[in-house]
Amino acid sequence: MKSIEQKALFIMFGGTGDLAQRKLYPALFNLYKRGYLKENFAVIGTARRPWTDDYYHEIIENAIDGLTDDTAQAKAFASHFYYQSHNVNDTSHYQTLKDLAEKLDAKYALEGNRIYYLAMSPRFFGTICDHLKSQGILTDHGYNRVIVEKPFGHDYASAKALNDEIAQTFPEHDVFRIDHYLGKEMVQNILSVRFANSMFNAMWNNRYISNIQITLSEALGVEERAGYYETAGALRDMVQNHILQIVTLLTMNAPVSYSAEDIAREKINALKSLKVYSPKEVKENFVRGQYGASKDQIAYRDEDQVAKDSLTETFVAGKLEVNNMDFAGVPIYIRTGKRMKTKATRIDVVFKQMPTVVFDDKLKHDVLTINIDPNPGISMQLNMKKPGQGFEIETANIGYQLTDEQKAGVPEAYERLILNALRGETLNFARWDELSYSWKFLDAIREAWDAENLSDDAFPNYVCGTMGPKAADKLLAKDGNHWEYEG
Ligand code: NAD
Repeated sequence: MKSIEQKALFIMFGGTGDLAQRKLYPALFNLYKRGYLKENFAVIGTARRPWTDDYYHEIIENAIDGLTDDTAQAKAFASHFYYQSHNVNDTSHYQTLKDLAEKLDAKYALEGNRIYYLAMSPRFFGTICDHLKSQGILTDHGYNRVIVEKPFGHDYASAKALNDEIAQTFPEHDVFRIDHYLGKEMVQNILSVRFANSMFNAMWNNRYISNIQITLSEALGVEERAGYYETAGALRDMVQNHILQIVTLLTMNAPVSYSAEDIAREKINALKSLKVYSPKEVKENFVRGQYGASKDQIAYRDEDQVAKDSLTETFVAGKLEVNNMDFAGVPIYIRTGKRMKTKATRIDVVFKQMPTVVFDDKLKHDVLTINIDPNPGISMQLNMKKPGQGFEIETANIGYQLTDEQKAGVPEAYERLILNALRGETLNFARWDELSYSWKFLDAIREAWDAENLSDDAFPNYVCGTMGPKAADKLLAKDGNHWEYEG
């Protein structure tokens, strides 16, 4: 039997950071528990702080606390971690990094395989990639892959500049741009719903679908990320990446095969078909909002590090058009926001109503709901006969939901994506072409908004704990539709 074990050296830039401790180390530990990482792996954590290896091991053990009761296992895992104090701007530090990398490569028989994980501010990505090449850290045997975190730019021009910098060192097939939504079980299931079921496959088009609704609602506020969020806003933070990836998977044509190449080709075509709006169309099709105080929660403008007159949007709703043969004319409504009523990620595919012919009552739409979070599964709302005497129609739900046991077996998004990168599987990562189209779509909205000169009192326009501003409901009402999910 072929071994599942992966041999590699990870170099974690930003190894002391929040992401590394909260997500990446636990993901590596789960890969270790499941046998994907065994004896032949090592991790160099780098950041500016002068930590010792021993202290780093404590950090690792704390980061995986709760994932195991086996102290010996936790210690054995942590022993693969090495800390290297390193300022990414200082060329001489890369020499020490190179020496340590070579030593560990030999010690753990890593065959020259390296994963460079850039878990720090994107403004350093160019410098790091440049030094990895110029200081001879890239190996000439084994692979050299780079994983980069979001945000990938803040508009098309900056994303392109960032991409050009990375491309000086890494070819496209070695660049793994994280969009952790692509690592979620039910996001991956979109393709099986569509292309493994004749029933849905036949109906997945403008002849049967009335509209599609995508909701990524968060109950939390901006928390301690306000510094970043003030410069980003919901449009850049959630729409450019996660939401557009979901739109793409829902509206792409069938790929020739389940290969990264074939799927990427169709995703790119779907993004090419996404209508880029004029300023007038942005006004008609997009709504932005910012949360105001409720009885229990403070307003966004009162959060730490947020300007008192901030015009940053914490909510976006929009109507998108994908003008390919199957989706032309199908409104795709999206919304995302902070401090909404519930935390949920879901897709509602609303099918056209049956005409009033056999039954006098106006029938409800059939709705296919793909629940991504928090309860992964699928449900279908149908019109059924009300049990008993007479003949009345009522709606009923049929569903598929992951059992607790299945949920426990589902890897967390980062665990899945890191394993993909170890195996060189690019399917669940965003390609540059995809990003370039999504940024162009986004820039048109951002530019229209920036030119609008919103007055200070335009915000706040929704109360914490609600599903966003009223204008987001009107966006659908104009078309005779309503949000299926009420929170
Ligand atoms: P963080 O501020 O907690 O960590 C940043 C790390 O970079 C630290 O280890 C710091 O020591 C290191 N660093 C900064 N300047 C350095 C320098 N000159 N030389 C060497 N090291 C330096 O940030 P984070 O929250 O861990 O985020 C890291 C990246 O991941 C960011 O790009 C962020 O946007 C992205 N991201 C984070 C999260 C999250 O949940 N934290 C989620 C999605 C994306």
